[in-house]
Amino acid sequence: MATLEIRDLHVSVIAEDGPKEILKGVDLTVRSGETHAIMGPNGSGKSTLAYSIAGHPKYTITSGSVTLDGQDVLALSVDQRARAGLFLAMQYPVEVPGVSVANFLRTAKTAVDGEAPKLRTWVKDVNAAMAAVQMDPEFANRSVNEGFSGGEKKRHEILQLELLNPKFAILDETDSGLDIDALRVVSEGVNRFSSQGDRGVLLITHYTRILRYIKPDYVHVFVAGRIAEQGGAELAERLEAEGYDRYVQAAKAEA
Ligand code: ADP
Ligand code: MG
Ligand code: MG
Repeated sequence: MATLEIRDLHVSVIAEDGPKEILKGVDLTVRSGETHAIMGPNGSGKSTLAYSIAGHPKYTITSGSVTLDGQDVLALSVDQRARAGLFLAMQYPVEVPGVSVANFLRTAKTAVDGEAPKLRTWVKDVNAAMAAVQMDPEFANRSVNEGFSGGEKKRHEILQLELLNPKFAILDETDSGLDIDALRVVSEGVNRFSSQGDRGVLLITHYTRILRYIKPDYVHVFVAGRIAEQGGAELAERLEAEGYDRYVQAAKAEA
């Protein structure tokens, strides 16, 4: 049983005209075994939250805390966060020319585990994981994300999730730009991961459509840098019907 705890998190970025506060006091607790969906309009700070937890240098934490089983996550390097069991699937995965998928995965696995995986089982695991996300084995020799379609990039993110097996997965718009088949493959990968029971998922999404495949235990409406409302899966249905406008207007009135 593990707990990822975000308390009153305030985060700024350096904009052209000085620091700009993006996260304005985020409170969220994710326990292993739980799937949380964060839903909100464009520009509300969802990716900022994901990157801040993962340790992207662009974001400055001005106050608040992030802890994993009581350990101060914000004091850890990006590598240490991964080793502690945090995984981020980025909204826009980066291309890494000259580094093959096979080498990238092995390097990442070695970094996370602190030792190189045993070669024989590793090759078997990689092949099984590629089959599970319906990626052609020839992708192992391609440069990471270079020339990948949107769907192939997202499958590659889920491939990493399968192989690195973190405690908590933060999935930032893993559903955007996917056709219906890729959406199913990606969702099944997330469900395989979370069905291991002691794993937690923070699923960031703009649309409710992925929630037909992944059933969240909790839904959080994210607007203007904070959580505006929380509920169960039924809240997603209400958002589908009503949109975010009501929350956006309320946040504007408050500002
Ligand atoms: P979301 O993922 O919910 O769409 P983001 O976290 O990507 O939102 O962005 C939140 C807000 O932060 C947006 O309004 C975006 O324009 C702003 N932002 C991010 N980086 C910068 C920057 N370097 N300068 C100014 N504004 C920024
Ligand atoms: Mg909760
Ligand atoms: Mg985003």
